[in-house]
Amino acid sequence: MPRSAPARAPITSPAAATVFTTVLTEGPVARVDVARRTGLSSAAVTKAARPFIEAGYLEELASGGRTAPGAGRPANPLAIRPDREYFVGVKITGDDLIGVVTDLRADVRASAHHALTSHDVGHVVQALADLAGELLSGDLAERAYCLGVAVSGDVDQTSGVVRYSPFLGWRDVPLAALLHEATGLTVTLENDVKALAVAEQWFGEGVGASSFALVTVGTGIGSALVVNGGLIRGAHGVAGEIGHVPVADGGPPCHCGGRGCVEAIASTEAILTLAREVSGEPALTMEDAVARARGGDEPLRGVFAGAGHAIGLGLAALVNLFGPERVVVSGEGVATYDLFEDQIRRTFAVQAFGSAARCGLVIRPLPFEEWARGAAAVAIQSLFVAESV
Ligand SMILES: [Zn+2]
Repeated sequence: MPRSAPARAPITSPAAATVFTTVLTEGPVARVDVARRTGLSSAAVTKAARPFIEAGYLEELASGGRTAPGAGRPANPLAIRPDREYFVGVKITGDDLIGVVTDLRADVRASAHHALTSHDVGHVVQALADLAGELLSGDLAERAYCLGVAVSGDVDQTSGVVRYSPFLGWRDVPLAALLHEATGLTVTLENDVKALAVAEQWFGEGVGASSFALVTVGTGIGSALVVNGGLIRGAHGVAGEIGHVPVADGGPPCHCGGRGCVEAIASTEAILTLAREVSGEPALTMEDAVARARGGDEPLRGVFAGAGHAIGLGLAALVNLFGPERVVVSGEGVATYDLFEDQIRRTFAVQAFGSAARCGLVIRPLPFEEWARGAAAVAIQSLFVAESV
C-alpha cells in the first residue's frame, strides 16, 4: 500500500546539505564549530539549520545537554534526532536478501534475511517486498518512507535502473520503479560497493579522511572512490572500477568481455578455477583449496599469491590515479586474506608511484549486514545531501 511521504526539510542549498552532514557525522556540535569546519558564517549555519529544526530532524541542545528550542546561541550544540525517521536498507546477493531498518544515524534497529530461490526479477521484487514488510511490522513502520537497495554491477542511480548485474543475470531492470510499486516506499538504488562506501564515509574508516577508496574482494572485485567528501560516480556511473582494470595481457577472459581483468584473476570463482587446474582435481572445493594452501601446498599458495598480485596491481593503479589518503579492503574474500596479503602489499609497494605508496591499506571485514546498512545510508543521503560529484 502506498505510503504518503511526510513533510520534509528540503535541501535548499549546498550550505544546508553541508551543515546537515556535519551534524550527522560529527554531532552534537556547536554552531560555531560547524561554522569553523564548513567555512560558513554563524548566521549562515543558523539559517541552514532552521528548516531541519522545524521539521524535527535536528535539535538544539542547551550547553548542559538539555533541549533549548529557539535559544539560538552559537555555542549551543546542534544534534540529530535519530528517531525522527527510519530507513530500510537491503543488500541483494546472488543467494539472499539481507535487510535492516536504521535510524537517521544509520544505527541498525532491526534486521532480517530472506533466501532467494531464483534470480527471476518478479521473484526478487516479491521477496524484497516481503522482507520490507517483515522489517516494518512494528513501530518502525510509522516513520519509514524510504528504501535503499544495494545491488552489484552497473546501477544507474538517477533512473533507478540496474543496467547490468552479472551475478543476477540482469540487464536494464527498472528495479526502483518495480519496488516502489510493490512496497509504496521511495526507492533509491546504488551499486553495492558504492553503498558500503557511503556508510564507511559517514560512519566508518572514511570519517575524517577527505579521500579514500574502498575495495572489496570476493565473488567480484568491487571498488568505490570518495574524493573531497563526495562519492565519484563518473559520467557513466562506473568510475573507479578496478575489478576491470586489465593486469595480464592475454590473461583469462572476463565476463565483462575483456581479458586479464583483476576480477578474471582474483575473484573467488577465478581462484577456484585455477586451483582446480593446478591441482588436477576438478572437484576441489574452495574450502579444501584454502585449507591446503594454509597447510603449505605450494602450487595452491601460488594461486592465491597470483590473485594477490593482480589485486596489488589494481590497487596501485587506483592509488596512482587518484591518490586517496587510505584504501579500505573488505568483502567476503577478506576471510582468506592471510593467503594474499603479503603479495598484495609487495606488489602495491613496487607499483605505487612515489609518495602514493604512503597510502595506508586497511583491512576491514564488513559483514553483509553492513552492506545493507550502506543501502540505508544511501537512502538517507538521497534525502539530505545535495549531489556535487
Ligand atoms: Zn572485466
